[in-house]
Amino acid sequence: MVNLGTGKTLIAKAIAGEAGVPFISMSGSEFIEMFAGLGASRVRKLFEKAKKMAPCIIFIDEIDAIGSRRTSNSGAESENNQTLNQLLVEMDGFETNETVIVLAATNRPEMLDKALLRPGRFDRQITIPAPDLNGRFEILKLHSKDKKLSDDVDLKAIAGDTAGFTGAELSNVLNEAAIIATKERHEKIQNEDIENAVRKITVGLEKHNRVISDKDKKLTAYHEAGHAVISRFLPTQEDVKEISIIPRGVAGGYTMYKTTEDKYYVSRTELLEKMIALMGGRAAEKLVLNEISTGASNDLEVATGIARDIITIYGMSDSLGPISLKIDQAYELELFGEEVINEVGNQIRMLIDNSYVTAQKILNEHREELDRVANLLMEKEKITAEEFDKIFEEFN
Ligand code: ZN
Repeated sequence: MVNLGTGKTLIAKAIAGEAGVPFISMSGSEFIEMFAGLGASRVRKLFEKAKKMAPCIIFIDEIDAIGSRRTSNSGAESENNQTLNQLLVEMDGFETNETVIVLAATNRPEMLDKALLRPGRFDRQITIPAPDLNGRFEILKLHSKDKKLSDDVDLKAIAGDTAGFTGAELSNVLNEAAIIATKERHEKIQNEDIENAVRKITVGLEKHNRVISDKDKKLTAYHEAGHAVISRFLPTQEDVKEISIIPRGVAGGYTMYKTTEDKYYVSRTELLEKMIALMGGRAAEKLVLNEISTGASNDLEVATGIARDIITIYGMSDSLGPISLKIDQAYELELFGEEVINEVGNQIRMLIDNSYVTAQKILNEHREELDRVANLLMEKEKITAEEFDKIFEEFN
């Protein structure tokens, strides 16, 4: 499980509650802040206790504190390695009839020692993204239960102003608002106290580029709407499953498609239409904002890769014909001479240009639908297949 303050402990507790079993929780840092050798013995004791209580769930928060990649053998790190090794021994030592489930959480999954992620250990991973608008509203409601709020407080509006905030940060907003209210000698927390708290926390978050400006939100909304609207008009492309402009990892947003069947073969039309759909993000940015962004870099990389494969691997180019060219092997390319090499480049560029032009044409023809989808995205941040389809039904 990843992501800072998204409620990992709450989720782990909820799982234990659902399963109706006891829950033992420990933080990775508790194993480390100890004298030599104690970390490993504490791991052993934790598992002994769990086996006695079984069925039960062990939850280790901040597993990266013990589970970081094993490195050198000096001092604290060697102590760390002993603790990690003990953890691996305990996890491997489970009998098949033992009903102890181990959950762990980290904000830095890329740091984890690979041994931890092998089958039989932590072999399932769940990523918990930051909450959407409705999620934030619910979290704010939850955390304001034990606080006195003035009647003018509009939690829905506050939720709208806190795109990109995690659960922990939202809880922090209300705590900060309570402090501000006390300083201002307000009997109850006023709406402006919360707004001031949001502002204060935003300054902290902006340093990490975590808060999304309205301008970025609009750009992302049109970018994703561009992909989704275009694929709707391409017969070979899968239906849209979900569109989101909530940042996830390095991406500002995403468009998810339904996968219907496993395919053995892919037709040329399907590859070309895939390229058009990929160009939809950039084309929408250009059409609506008359500006293009770096947000399309991955789309372009994928589209260019498809174009290259169409020409050099699948031999689907009209001018070069059914030929397989290993373009990463210079000596083999040399066989065909400069003329062929130039033609490969020209053909790739032509495919890219054509797909971009087609993408722009489709969006021009369906500008109204594009606006509707983008506006709904800006409002709700995440839309489902049903909400997406509904927009188009009204145009039929
Ligand atoms: Zn894109």
